[in-house]
Amino acid sequence: MTLLLKNMLLCDALRERGEYASLLIEEGVISAILPAGEAPPCEEVVDGRGKMALIPGFVNAHTHAAMVLLRGLGEDSPLKVWLETKIWPLEARLTREHIYWGTKQALLEMAARGVTAFADMYFEMDAVVEAALETGVRIAPCRGIVGDGPEKLAEGLALADTWRGHKDFVSVQLGPHAPYTLSLPFLKEICAAAKDRNLGVHFHFLETQDEIEYLRKNFGLSPAEYLEESGIASAPSALLAHCVWLDPATLDEADFSRTALVHNPNSNCKLGSGIMDLSGISAKMPRIALGTDGAASNNRLDIWGEMRSAALLAKGTRRDPTAVPARDVLRMATLEGAKALGFPRTGLIREGWAADLVLVDLDSPSYVGVDEGNVHGYLVYAGGAEDIAGTMVAGRWIYREGGYPHADREEILAKAKEMRKNLLQ
Ligand SMILES: [Zn+2]
Repeated sequence: MTLLLKNMLLCDALRERGEYASLLIEEGVISAILPAGEAPPCEEVVDGRGKMALIPGFVNAHTHAAMVLLRGLGEDSPLKVWLETKIWPLEARLTREHIYWGTKQALLEMAARGVTAFADMYFEMDAVVEAALETGVRIAPCRGIVGDGPEKLAEGLALADTWRGHKDFVSVQLGPHAPYTLSLPFLKEICAAAKDRNLGVHFHFLETQDEIEYLRKNFGLSPAEYLEESGIASAPSALLAHCVWLDPATLDEADFSRTALVHNPNSNCKLGSGIMDLSGISAKMPRIALGTDGAASNNRLDIWGEMRSAALLAKGTRRDPTAVPARDVLRMATLEGAKALGFPRTGLIREGWAADLVLVDLDSPSYVGVDEGNVHGYLVYAGGAEDIAGTMVAGRWIYREGGYPHADREEILAKAKEMRKNLLQ
């Protein structure tokens, strides 16, 4: 199957300017980038007529997809109260069926908003991976480990065994939940297993300010010492979600060379946890991805919205309009996310790279005046997911002009509503 995406404005995080060109896609890969006028014979042609942009697919680098079923519960309450009184009691009742259909619902939302890969921490993860593969998106799943329990680690490792043969689409990690939900010895055991099996570790870290005091009081450790002592810093790779209270100075005190941070600005604001010093941190380490966190604390699964919030919050809190430019947040939303999840040759528009792409309609009022020189700024500050005309993973449309070519939207919504009703009974 050959597909030509003709006469498009190409834009990615490593191009300083957009470029009008055509993309030839074969076997799920961008096989050639051609001058806009060229049109070799192809089985399928989509002509952008210079009025469409192509950008790499977004990566949602930290979420709990099935939490869409818990959306709207305990609004406007602090993290601890929200978790303990609303979320955890209901999560204890979640079955495999709830999680499967909740994830399918979340994936309808994410596909329509340009997400082509996501990192998910939850439980019943085989069901989550099945939902992702049926939808056609890439996933970095991990079994969320709350509380010490060797059986939970065993489940996490079994997930890696089960999906070993699907490495282009499934990149399994281990998922210790957070410093306050695990003992330090058990976390060390998980990180040792990660090293032994060459797996990444996905962890919530410094989401709220009191975690710093918690680390000091319970373990006598600073954040840097905790990352070193636990083995997170020396794991094959680590994904640290939130890091709202990470002092940029900490980056000099521990080895962050194998670590990526995931900034979740909207969830952090909504839960009143604070605002990460993105400008200060990104000056010291470029490996920062973006995530939505679960839909119960965001409440959207929209990386485009995170991109805009990340840039605006960094500028506003620093009182510096030059802080975190548009191209930097686009890099976080695409290339850095792809690297952090462990999907090579995704996240840029390059020959030989995967055709994980978002097609954006520039023939809309908010894009009047867009050109090669200003496209990054138009996308981040003026655009939004409402302008997405198509989302493609490995050359296959998972969303196209309001519809889902390979998913039964009505069935998924009906099942998700049923699951939600059943859960709240
Ligand atoms: Zn989370």
